[in-house]
Amino acid sequence: EELTAEETERLTEEYGAHNYHPLPVVIARAEGAWAYDTEGRAYLDCIGAYSAVSHGHLSPFLVETACAQLRVSALTSRAMYTPQLALFLEGLCRFTECEMACPMNTGAEAVETAIKIARKWAYTRKGVPDDRAEIVVAAGNFHGRTTTIVGFSSEDAYKRHFGPFTPGFVTVPFGDISALAAAITPSTAAVLMEPIQAEAGILIPPDGYLAAVRTLCDQNNILLIWDEIQTGFGRAGRKFAWQYEDARPDLLCLGKALGGGVMPVSAVAGTRDAMEVLHPGDHGSTFGGSPLACAVALAALAEMEVSNLAGRSAVLGARLLAGLRALEDPRIEDVRGRGLLAGLEFHAGTDTGALTQAFLHAGLLTKETRHRTFRFAPPLTIDESLTDEIVRRVALALAAT
Ligand code: PLP
Repeated sequence: EELTAEETERLTEEYGAHNYHPLPVVIARAEGAWAYDTEGRAYLDCIGAYSAVSHGHLSPFLVETACAQLRVSALTSRAMYTPQLALFLEGLCRFTECEMACPMNTGAEAVETAIKIARKWAYTRKGVPDDRAEIVVAAGNFHGRTTTIVGFSSEDAYKRHFGPFTPGFVTVPFGDISALAAAITPSTAAVLMEPIQAEAGILIPPDGYLAAVRTLCDQNNILLIWDEIQTGFGRAGRKFAWQYEDARPDLLCLGKALGGGVMPVSAVAGTRDAMEVLHPGDHGSTFGGSPLACAVALAALAEMEVSNLAGRSAVLGARLLAGLRALEDPRIEDVRGRGLLAGLEFHAGTDTGALTQAFLHAGLLTKETRHRTFRFAPPLTIDESLTDEIVRRVALALAAT
């Protein structure tokens, strides 16, 4: 029996921990770029599960792959080999131009995995004294919600009352290469950053920054870890956002779209030199690398290639940015983005609560990230007319507020 919208909200709030504040809409089903509420109203989904639904909701190929795999095997653990894991690892390394990979489930786990690898690499390869390794991170970062990760967040709301925190992290301003150079010590194991800070409001570093970070890491024997959990797999208009510059990582944190919008799948991929420090017993996950996850993720990678999602993202992203820039609303402070990862920032004093309602009313799902910036991260499978439809609905919402 179907729940009413009111019942759905009431049960969720009564029995669920209040760690989210959802939009006042109940999604009954979703397909492609669209989500439908209980009354059948259609919304263009520009949240896309926080940039995880790059293939669109329920990509037929991925649903078919998942269903077929469910008739074969779903969960075996890493205690045995499986062909699905073997093929996924090979496919992922080819796709990312990496040499080895470690499968996990969520983005935060991928980041934790990269931190462990970087520290062990520093002690066993670089010769950093035990328990002294430092990892340099950027102010404004978002890497997930575990206690270690929120400990080096600069957002008070993410960390207040959750301490004490893991030591060994040094924070520098994002985009400032001299600050990064000054933060490096003989104990620096790694630099961990997002090539575009998505949660912080789609912040793009100055030209040359990514390559300069790579150079600094080379000069100081430091691992470069790009967190491309949100920006990767075509979202920012290239396969990976680091590819805008000569900034190849030693370790790449991956997640979100890797699961094709169907399964939670994450991974760390990287050089053999870094990945090889992991030995049996060092790290693991019950669900990481399951046959079901691997089958879906391998199919998700194939679909990215076949449908040229990165190329579509680049072209349609430019079209979306141009459309948003043409809106000329005095409340708009900035329009920025790369590929189909766009931010629409409003001036201080703008009633963003009213705007959120207006977007919803116009049939558009989007939410404020930090600092009055609405994120537009629709499925990369949209076409020109749906891209224009997003802009048209934004204009409608602006006109209504
Ligand atoms: N890293 C980045 C850059 C992210 O954007 C996110 C999620 O928004 C994460 C890590 C955390 O991923 P998850 O929520 O799957 O743990």
